[in-house]
Amino acid sequence: MRPTQASAGRCHLCGAGPLDLVPDYGGLGRVTSDCKPWPRGGWLGVCPGCAAVQKVIDPAWHEECAAIYRAYTIYHQSGGVEQPVFAPETGAAASRSSRLVGQLTAHVGLPETGRLLDVGSGNGALLRAFHQAAPRWALVGTELGDKYRAEVESIPGVEAFYNCPAGDVPGRFTMVSMIHVLEHVPGPGQFLEDLGRKLNEGGLLLLEVPDHRQNPFELLIADHASHFTAEALAAVVESAGFEVIAAARNWVPKEISLVARKAAGNPPRRPSETPAAVLAAVSLRVRWLRSVTEAARGVRRDGPFGVLGTSIAGTWLFQELDGEVDFFVDEDPHRAGRQYLGRPIYAPAQVPPGGRVFIALPHPIAAHVRERLGRYPGYSCHLPPTG
Ligand SMILES: [Zn+2]
Repeated sequence: MRPTQASAGRCHLCGAGPLDLVPDYGGLGRVTSDCKPWPRGGWLGVCPGCAAVQKVIDPAWHEECAAIYRAYTIYHQSGGVEQPVFAPETGAAASRSSRLVGQLTAHVGLPETGRLLDVGSGNGALLRAFHQAAPRWALVGTELGDKYRAEVESIPGVEAFYNCPAGDVPGRFTMVSMIHVLEHVPGPGQFLEDLGRKLNEGGLLLLEVPDHRQNPFELLIADHASHFTAEALAAVVESAGFEVIAAARNWVPKEISLVARKAAGNPPRRPSETPAAVLAAVSLRVRWLRSVTEAARGVRRDGPFGVLGTSIAGTWLFQELDGEVDFFVDEDPHRAGRQYLGRPIYAPAQVPPGGRVFIALPHPIAAHVRERLGRYPGYSCHLPPTG
């Protein structure tokens, strides 16, 4: 049964309820976190107590997630290679994990030796980058299945791979990392509290989650239980028995990076924004998403039409435009030359003359991309609305 305002359920972080539903969210198509189109029909809400933005976690949501995870394929657009991120300062490309580990060592520092537990290690992108920066650490990865076992076990420094819940992994660790994991977890406070037991006294927690303030497209991901801001993430982490030592929105573009140390006895943090203000801001982001589709429809005229981006936003827009897209464009050399959703992916230099390319990214990032693509005068690039 579809939730109504009265039956929208309780917050999966603090238990307050019912959630205030975000108007019109259910009219938007969605995507899975592994970048596949997913039908409309989701429910997004804001907690009237702690102001956390979240999905309505009901049996229908759990069923959708189970279906998504059964078919999960990480980075399928590039044959399994992690996507690059582009440094805002220089435009230089690096893998997301190596950028994150670089920022971690620069801002927090790492002991010469230690043990890292990477929860939800995927195909081992973080472990690989971590070994480069800290070759004397022993590394352990976990995933719920064995799909990537051989790949992870082959990474230098990896001592073991487990396909069990993190709490069942033997031993204690100097650091626990969760890269794009916590947003999937119902009840993240309890989850972090349990995870804290795997850490040595003073051990470190490294979290990476998407930031819907920088990237509203993140709200469209069906299997994300929570949509964090830096403040909301810090509040959950502190309530689970950690002290935040770094929280950054610029280590990796569009994402929140947080490092915390195990420490008992934090006073609970009060939300800095009221639930009403958060609901208003998220409702505006949902309206902006609708305006993106309208803007892209306006750009699609005679001549070849393409969408730049083959991740969350590009996949979603393809679906919203009913597939009326001739090609994709991607700056990632691992993706250019492949097919995606039955369309070719071109590198920026390969776009047909006279083509119109809509940049499916948050506005400020899209503006940087258009600058980079300005050196190809044969086609035009179009930005999403500001907002
Ligand atoms: Zn709450």
